[in-house]
Amino acid sequence: MLHLNEPTIRTLPKDQAKRKVSSHRRTKIVVSLGPSTDRAKTMSALIEQGIDVARLNMSHGTRDDHRRRAQLVRDSAAQHGRAVALLVDLQGPKIRIGGFADGPVQLRNGKRFVIDTALNDRAGTEDSVGTSYTDLINDVDTGDRLLLDDGNVVLQVDKIEGTAISTRVIVGGELSDSKGINKLGGGLSAPALTEKDHEDIRFAAEIGADYLGVSFVRHGADVETARMLLRSAGSDAHVVSKVERREALDKIEEIIVASDVIMVARGDLGVEIGDAEVPGVQKRLISESRAHNTVVITATQMMQSMVSSPQPTRAEVSDVSNAVLDGTDAVMLSAESAIGRHPVKVVAALDRICLAAERHRSVLVSGHRMESRFDSVEETIAMATMYTANHYNVVGILTLTESGSTAKWMSRISSGIQIFGMTRNEDTERRMALYRGVYPVPFDATQLPRGDVNRAVVAELEARGLVAEGDWLIITKGDFSGVKGGTNSMKIVKVGEVTGERD
Ligand code: PEP
Repeated sequence: MLHLNEPTIRTLPKDQAKRKVSSHRRTKIVVSLGPSTDRAKTMSALIEQGIDVARLNMSHGTRDDHRRRAQLVRDSAAQHGRAVALLVDLQGPKIRIGGFADGPVQLRNGKRFVIDTALNDRAGTEDSVGTSYTDLINDVDTGDRLLLDDGNVVLQVDKIEGTAISTRVIVGGELSDSKGINKLGGGLSAPALTEKDHEDIRFAAEIGADYLGVSFVRHGADVETARMLLRSAGSDAHVVSKVERREALDKIEEIIVASDVIMVARGDLGVEIGDAEVPGVQKRLISESRAHNTVVITATQMMQSMVSSPQPTRAEVSDVSNAVLDGTDAVMLSAESAIGRHPVKVVAALDRICLAAERHRSVLVSGHRMESRFDSVEETIAMATMYTANHYNVVGILTLTESGSTAKWMSRISSGIQIFGMTRNEDTERRMALYRGVYPVPFDATQLPRGDVNRAVVAELEARGLVAEGDWLIITKGDFSGVKGGTNSMKIVKVGEVTGERD
């Protein structure tokens, strides 16, 4: 199995690593890669600016493009001493119309337009167009509304005859090749994983992806299938379920529980449920994900005007800010970074907006999970730590973690206190890059005598300039170094006064 170069964070001079970790932004930034991020200089500037996750969108570009971009991220992250995770985002069953024989057509309100599953892929005209999704005739009924091109064109189904769906144009406009088809209210039956997705899962395993995005998830079983395919391809990537179908909302609890990460995929979701419903659904998805210890990304059109403009609109600033206040782990850029004119400026803008929103009191304290019972000793220690940190004069939490789970539990709690996820595993470092408030720090405690660990971890953070003499810190760890799931203690220490422990 081919693996891309692993970051060389451990061999970096400490002052370099220190500079990168200490930006203190808690909300993470996911950046979609594309032609605009292809230059090494641009990627270097993006990593300097603090991107946390790089997204390869399998709906665009070739596998060679994606392989090259993944390598660029890994090389640049290594040079900067940063842990940047790689997210491979599957195309999924995006249902599209075919092509037009003579270029784009104009559909006029009130006119008849036919979608015919038997029509040749390039035979579209002003009157009809094909689609390769042959089940469309079974999925629609008279009176249904079909939204083409993200809702720019709306058709109402009048009649279904053989392979032809006859419609009336409700909202007209220009229609060009391969535009998406959604049904208002959901109900298209295509399975979440296509043949291409199966191949792309093997590709994700080959390039060592940290996260796999699954599009158009319908229920928990779709998530389990994707995870099973990943494991059989030799990957332990975590699964990001993209919530973009109406039906997914009916099964949202099982999807959240089955997933490592939820993406509020506001583009397709807005088309299926109506744009006005999206902000409320976003709030619900974020709070339910946090309650189930699932990580959440808010995506799509966050800074859309910056595809061409050098600065965001006030509305975009508010949107990003509100996602931070809602408690999202990460905000995502799509076209803004992949094909936009200002990929670095847009990340700088996100950085400053997130930092400002994070000063709001509502995200510094937590009443979250006060009533709940916890499922394990590790989770109990994580919760006790956050409660203590939020109520005492603590500047940071050091959690020694193998899998990143303790850091993830901690990051579900609103807080302004930094969580240093200290791990010897490079894949855990990259995965933790997505968790709100968690700063991955490479550290191998397994070679140290147990009694020296507290002193050594604090010295490591002090050497990186992340903490200073007199700071109060909380350390969490297990009885045995290098064991997954053993965290069973928390200890409050003061930098400069940390003594050794007896075994
Ligand atoms: C979306 O629809 O909002 C989304 C993130 O999906 P994609 O960019 O893959 O269409």
